[in-house]
Amino acid sequence: MKIIALGSGGWIPTSAKETSCFLIDSGESLIILDTGTGISRLEGYVDLLNKYEEIHIIYSHYHLDHIIGLCYIGNWAKGKVINIYGPGNNLINRACKDIMTTFLSPPYFISVESIGKRVNFIDYDLNGFQIGNIKINITEQIHTGKSYGITVGNYLHYATDTALSEETFRAAKDVKLLLHDCWSMVNVNSMDHTSLQDIIDLQSRFQVERVGLIHTNPNWKDADLLNIKNTISEKGSIVFVEDEMVFLF
Ligand SMILES: [Zn+2]
Ligand SMILES: [Zn+2]
Repeated sequence: MKIIALGSGGWIPTSAKETSCFLIDSGESLIILDTGTGISRLEGYVDLLNKYEEIHIIYSHYHLDHIIGLCYIGNWAKGKVINIYGPGNNLINRACKDIMTTFLSPPYFISVESIGKRVNFIDYDLNGFQIGNIKINITEQIHTGKSYGITVGNYLHYATDTALSEETFRAAKDVKLLLHDCWSMVNVNSMDHTSLQDIIDLQSRFQVERVGLIHTNPNWKDADLLNIKNTISEKGSIVFVEDEMVFLF
């Protein structure tokens, strides 16, 4: 399993970091977690894309910094079947198909048909679902307008856009990598995002093997980044995720 960070930044793309998008090559399936502006980095992975006829996209939620890149994907996916999984009727009282079809229709974009050979929409719920032989589990998070954690087999738990939640760390207990939202150095009681201080506390309490900090704050300056990197450098088990970083399992 190969996980590539196409977009590791939060909210606003910067020259170094595009917004949320992670590409997973399981060897059997190609999965994309969220389609932020990071999807533009697919240009560097055309050989990988060419191995697959089908792309599976899973959404954590529908905030624009996580979906905007779906209108770019046709540039690389025109001949492919695209399966889109997102929270739907059971969780947020609106179907994924309805939300994303609206987003891709005029006056915002051309049409949903323009992005791939065929586009299928699947509402997920807290029972999770299966992509080939990989079990996808879904966990509730704490975020304005709701967001969901996504567990990919025994490898990855993706927890973008969430305030601190023990449920997230419980879900990540047995995976190799937890990719976790990190928005501030210390706890500021945010109802949307998490601090590094809280991540360090819960990682040791729940003994999560490895944590990657993602959806990082676009307003951080060099001094903030240095402070963060110094804080985590003693802990080999926490990594500041940069775009194009690759995790291999
Ligand atoms: Zn976000
Ligand atoms: Zn959000």
